[in-house]
Amino acid sequence: MTDNRDEIILSWEELLDLAHGFLTAHGLSEPQARALAGVLCRSERDGGRSHGLQRLPGTLETMAHPTFNKHADPTVEELTPAIIHVDADYGFSTLAAERGLPLLVANARRLGIAILAINNGFHSTALWPIVEDIAVQGLAGLSMNPTHDWVAPAGGTGGALGTNPIAFAWPRPGHPPYVFDFATSAAARADIALYRQEGRQIPSGWGLDREGQPSTDPAAVLAGAMLPFGGHKGSALATMIELLAGPFIADRTSRQSAQFDQQAKAAPCHGELILAFNPTLIGAALGKEGESQDAAEDLFARIEQQGARLPGSRRYAIREQSNARGIPIRRALHEKIISMMPDARPG
Ligand code: NDP
Repeated sequence: MTDNRDEIILSWEELLDLAHGFLTAHGLSEPQARALAGVLCRSERDGGRSHGLQRLPGTLETMAHPTFNKHADPTVEELTPAIIHVDADYGFSTLAAERGLPLLVANARRLGIAILAINNGFHSTALWPIVEDIAVQGLAGLSMNPTHDWVAPAGGTGGALGTNPIAFAWPRPGHPPYVFDFATSAAARADIALYRQEGRQIPSGWGLDREGQPSTDPAAVLAGAMLPFGGHKGSALATMIELLAGPFIADRTSRQSAQFDQQAKAAPCHGELILAFNPTLIGAALGKEGESQDAAEDLFARIEQQGARLPGSRRYAIREQSNARGIPIRRALHEKIISMMPDARPG
């Protein structure tokens, strides 16, 4: 791949330098900048542009939130052997997750299951990197968090739930892990904003207007409420996420997170729940370890044999290309990031 009019190609190191340099130039501490840049660059590399370097300009609004801590220093506590706790200290949640991960993995491997409860983190990154990091160490991973209360419950009329993403990963010896990662809203908020920008109507079933009536007008839905995917099923799943990553770990619901924002338009500040499971412990205890792994692989094979694809496979294919030929980044975004560096001079 070579640069073209719309894109330039960067190496992994150049991409990381760009993101890390942007964040540190705006005063973010080195450990936080390294952790956040790493996750954003992984999304960019794997073709997840919506959660890649496009997020960098918005970090300035987050860092301007009155509570944001550019020098947050999250500390890891073992509340019980199965419950690891990290307070993100009002910084970006990525550093808290990175610091809690080794103890989560060690304890889940030994106990069969453990959770990492993160509090008070500003969060807007994709969830798959953390569950993939768990799965490449031989464990299954599950992660979830609330956002802001933009989503109406199925049958309701106004915002009560977040877009509440959930990600899951299962380790596959000899293959990259099985990973899915998506929001529980029918569509991403950014997608609805794109329809508005392009003057197009959104599909029915994505949202309600301010009066709680179904609407295909993106502006009316952004002012009203989004809808969950899958009707009452998505609504219940989003509620479970809200409960487990909110009250269960003594942190904010999506409504409380929105109130905490105080119109700053920062990334949502809330809790994050990450679980790790040892997928072979029960099988091994019952003398069926090999059988369990074979059954999992048989399931994946049956899915693929029908022509369906496994979630994660598109990302892995893009990752291979990026590793071989460099990572394409939109020229306009690259220029915008450079122009927003504090030492950028006009002209
Ligand atoms: P999508 O609806 O695009 O679904 C993405 C997931 O579904 C991926 O795992 C993808 O795999 C898989 N997938 C897509 N198409 C297929 C298919 N045809 N067959 C099998 N699997 C498929 O995701 P969303 O728009 O809801 O979310 C996108 C991102 O936004 C996520 O990473 C999420 O974490 C993030 N997000 C983060 C929030 C936060 O609070 N930080 C809030 C909301 C969303 P593949 O990647 O291989 O295509």
